[in-house]
Amino acid sequence: MIVTIASFKGGVGKTTTALHLAAYLQTKAPTLLVDGDLNRSALDWGARGSLPFKVVDEKQGVRFARDYEHIVIDTPARPDPDELKTVAEGCDLLILPSSPDAMALSAMVQMVEALHSLKSNYRILLTLIPPAPSKVGIESRRTIEKAELPIFKAEVRRLAVFQKASLAGVPVNAIKDPYAKAAWGCYAAVGKEILP
Ligand code: ADP
Repeated sequence: MIVTIASFKGGVGKTTTALHLAAYLQTKAPTLLVDGDLNRSALDWGARGSLPFKVVDEKQGVRFARDYEHIVIDTPARPDPDELKTVAEGCDLLILPSSPDAMALSAMVQMVEALHSLKSNYRILLTLIPPAPSKVGIESRRTIEKAELPIFKAEVRRLAVFQKASLAGVPVNAIKDPYAKAAWGCYAAVGKEILP
């Protein structure tokens, strides 16, 4: 399966999503993460520590792809609509992470409009959901559902352990922290919706 992660706005958890979905898929079958982000965020993440799957850049991706059952692609931020269409056509599922704020949601809707002409398989993932009493997570979901856009049932909570994991160069489930299990559980739930 080829899963691609894309976003029109930075800082919405695109790389964090690519990395943790690769970690989830690796528990099912050999998985390759292709870091297409110009900031090489996933490659840097792996270089700081160690990841349970292989990470390569876009150029190496072609060479390694055939050896892996699943491929997760982290794309450059802010693709233009044409780039996005090419990306969407080349994968089995396109995931569009969005944080639950007006700016990110409007960037996401703009992206979906670019996809509109395609019958591509895409789904929105809400990330960085703040804890109660904030209702922005629920409100954002309502907005997306009202617009009849496809969205994952699972969502990713805003938890500091994700930043800890990034600094340590590992996925959250490799961190000793009271919230590590909850954080991993968010992406495991997303993963189960993709590949039970
Ligand atoms: P993008 O690839 O969209 O720019 P990143 O995945 O690099 O986003 O995340 C941006 C910042 O937010 C990073 O510091 C990352 O550690 C942090 N982050 C991402 N997801 C979460 C989350 N669910 N909870 C808390 N912090 C997060």
